[in-house]
Amino acid sequence: MKYYKKVILIFLLVLISCFSLSVGSMAHEMYYKGYVYNWEPIPLVWDEMVSGKAHLKMNADLLSANYAQFFETVSEIWPNASSKVSVTRTDFYSAKVAFGTATEAEWKRRFGNAAKDMQGITDITSTDGILIKDAASAEASSGRIKYAAILLTPYSDSFEHDDHIKATMVHEIGHALGLGHPNYIYYPTEEPSIMRSWVDYEGYYVPQQHDIDDLDDKY
Ligand SMILES: [Zn+2]
Repeated sequence: MKYYKKVILIFLLVLISCFSLSVGSMAHEMYYKGYVYNWEPIPLVWDEMVSGKAHLKMNADLLSANYAQFFETVSEIWPNASSKVSVTRTDFYSAKVAFGTATEAEWKRRFGNAAKDMQGITDITSTDGILIKDAASAEASSGRIKYAAILLTPYSDSFEHDDHIKATMVHEIGHALGLGHPNYIYYPTEEPSIMRSWVDYEGYYVPQQHDIDDLDDKY
């Protein structure tokens, strides 16, 4: 009887450690399929790789001055934090990550009454030309992102201060890299992350360990 209990205990411990390992080593994706507690990730990765790094060619010609002043600084933040990312700033036509400031009409069209609460959005397109906007389109796509259009809010009073603007820009680049929100319904974590979706600024604008681990898992 005692032996039997011990076997069950060991079995449970092994089960628990397998579960935490599988959750711990899984990057937070933007889209999942399945059901609660059994979400199945739909992995998305940046397509263009140079020397083993996701290579982002960025441009900010369509950014208003309140954001453009931070573009150069912001563009270096992911490559400084992670060995899996490199960035070059290019002209608009060569760029694969294009920043722009939305018009008020565009922002209201997208978000309606929530327009003033939304700080940024990233539209991603796959190598096979699919605009990825939900789990179905993510699953139908190649899973490889070839282009990201990052739009920022036209309402400058959406931000508490400059670091909040930088945090939003870094967050949106994270989506271009295929990262999802780690505090959403899919395997949520309380760990600090630049990819948390928030309304209030959390006190940092650089990727956190969680984000670096997610990129190491993906690339
Ligand atoms: Zn987001």
